[in-house]
Amino acid sequence: MPKGFSLILSAPSGTGKTATCKILREKLPDLKIAVSHTTREIRKGEKDGVDYIFISKEEFEDKIKNNDFLEWAEVHNCYYGTSFQSAEIPLKNGHDTLLELDVQGVENLRKMKYQGVYLIIFPPSIQELEARLNKRGTDSEERIYLRLETGKKEIKKYKMYDYVITNHVVEDTVNAILAIMQAEKLRVSHYCPTSPDIEALLKDGID
Ligand code: 5GP
Repeated sequence: MPKGFSLILSAPSGTGKTATCKILREKLPDLKIAVSHTTREIRKGEKDGVDYIFISKEEFEDKIKNNDFLEWAEVHNCYYGTSFQSAEIPLKNGHDTLLELDVQGVENLRKMKYQGVYLIIFPPSIQELEARLNKRGTDSEERIYLRLETGKKEIKKYKMYDYVITNHVVEDTVNAILAIMQAEKLRVSHYCPTSPDIEALLKDGID
């Protein structure tokens, strides 16, 4: 079975991650999204179990104690975490898996030497990011400020990633992600023999 790989995606709040992921899901129905757990309140239009698994602080802390999380972090005063179950099961079944994490999550995975393709989406400018956060209309002024400051810190850590994509137009961003995925799949480390004779030849060793 061809191996699945992890696509680890970060994007400062307001960069267009939700719209990007929506199109990505439509274009790649086999891509499994590792749905994170969070303690933040559900936003209008979000679905429990689809966008996030919304749980209480107590439930989240129990899960930390039970070692249920591959990684977790506190972002904007709420907990967010990726369970082992959501990240590892699709991979084991050969599916490509998308993990959406903040930079703390990425820092943790990098420390663990977690294998994957690490990608960050940038806004075209900080001014544009602020305008998008204001336009979204889901957050108070104080929250927008907090998200913007966190976003600036995240952008500064871009060297932790393998790829940076600036989101000018969401369709172009999606196409860039698709191109990256296609190239990653062609890596020698992902090669899976397509016929018994090639498999036999490769088992024979290299001259
Ligand atoms: P939002 O509340 O805007 O959906 O997400 C806030 C931040 O939390 C985003 O940067 C998002 O990528 C991050 N995030 C979402 N799920 C997880 C997760 O499971 N782990 C970590 N570390 N960050 C997450």
